[in-house]
Amino acid sequence: MVGDRQEIGCQGGVTHNLLPRTRCHASEAKIGDVMNFDFTDEQKLLADQVRRFAAGKLEKDALARAHNARFPFDVAQAMSRQGLLGITIPEVDGGQGSSLMDAVIAIEQIAAVCPRSADVVQAGNFGPIRTFAEYGTPQQKARWLPDLLGGRAVMSLGMSEPDAGSAATDLKTTAKPDGGHFVVNGSKVFSTFSADAQIFLIYVRFGPGVDGIGSVIVERGTSGFRIGRPSSFMSGEEWCELHFDDCRVPAENVLLGPGGFKKQMAGFNVERIGNAARALAFGRYAFNRARDYAATREQFGRPLCEFQGLQWKFADMAIKLDSAQLLLYRAAINADRGLPSAYETSIAKAACNVNGFAVANESVQVMGALGYSRESLVEYCMRRCRGWMIAGGSVEILKNRIAEHIFDRRFDQRRRHADAAE
Ligand SMILES: Cc1cc2nc3c(=O)[nH]c(=O)nc-3n(C[C@H](O)[C@H](O)[C@H](O)COP(=O)(O)OP(=O)(O)OC[C@H]3O[C@@H](n4cnc5c(N)ncnc54)[C@H](O)[C@@H]3O)c2cc1C
Repeated sequence: MVGDRQEIGCQGGVTHNLLPRTRCHASEAKIGDVMNFDFTDEQKLLADQVRRFAAGKLEKDALARAHNARFPFDVAQAMSRQGLLGITIPEVDGGQGSSLMDAVIAIEQIAAVCPRSADVVQAGNFGPIRTFAEYGTPQQKARWLPDLLGGRAVMSLGMSEPDAGSAATDLKTTAKPDGGHFVVNGSKVFSTFSADAQIFLIYVRFGPGVDGIGSVIVERGTSGFRIGRPSSFMSGEEWCELHFDDCRVPAENVLLGPGGFKKQMAGFNVERIGNAARALAFGRYAFNRARDYAATREQFGRPLCEFQGLQWKFADMAIKLDSAQLLLYRAAINADRGLPSAYETSIAKAACNVNGFAVANESVQVMGALGYSRESLVEYCMRRCRGWMIAGGSVEILKNRIAEHIFDRRFDQRRRHADAAE
């Protein structure tokens, strides 16, 4: 698979903008349709150029970057200059107007060299910025996209609340109209990049039920918006509680009004593809380090790779990585107008999260104490992969969605009214 290759063999130095001028046609490489498992020439060129950029600019400080919780704005600005932010955002909005598959290639190639920098590709292409670019008004986009795409600002997503995790539609944060404003009250937890973000996409309740849910954009510094002290995840990433106490948000900051929840979830599937791509790429990063280690480290007078007990571990890891990668590519390539289907996203994310973590975890084992040490990025990859099994749709919630597809019916997770009344 291309993501595993160190050198792809294309010629040509890094251009100002890494995206090839000729766009690839998704139909040329649709997995399942034509069974063409190779990349197009343009995709190979993109992969090669992104890898060269990463090797030249990001490799040296990869370890330090992984252990720094702050968002690397310097990397974001360097990536912006290379055209690696807004890959799927239309050119008219300042993006590159390219495909979701190109964005997946970019995140894979960056992660293969500097795992932490893949978060910048996520923030600039797959995260809330993608939902924002899809549904924002021209005025909203003109106001915030230049800084986001320039790597000068990052956006954080506030969906989860203390009492609304997997049951996201239980959210209680309200937005009530008041003249030309909405008054927002409530709180959010676990938001990625919240310690560094300037702009927050906040899911709110304009009214009762799922149809009452929409979203607003809130800027850091808005009166009534308080950002709590950072807490740490196991991965070292930080998140802050977000508190809204009679926070007045101008009506022009409404991104999606009542009834916007389904659209937001369509945009959120892109975020899930980014999580899936990173989980898989981090698993592959750890796998590559473990493979190199097993090829050279000697115990009992032989290289580790000569022990069958380890050979089979590597074979199992390769099966996990390659199978999940095909599911990821299917979801990305089949994405309609850049928005992947819920089923293909769910099955890809579940496979990439579970397999990425399993491979990173096994890679730690293969590398012994060195793998468990912070001197290598293998343990970092394992810790990060663990989080994606929970974040952005846990593996269990994804499996619920997959089961609905299998049985072609909806399984309501909520207690039935009759049961509740007993
Ligand atoms: C690294 C990381 C980054 C995150 N970033 C963000 C962010 O940027 N913005 C944001 O809003 N949130 C973010 N989150 C929060 C994330 O979205 C929630 O953690 C997730 O939705 C699960 O909610 P919960 O943690 O409250 O678990 P709960 O919903 O309490 O679930 C606990 C366990 O029960 C399982 N479970 C729940 N319901 C069911 C069911 N019906 N069937 C089967 N199993 C079920 C879950 O899968 C989980 O294993 C992040 C979380 C992590 C770990």
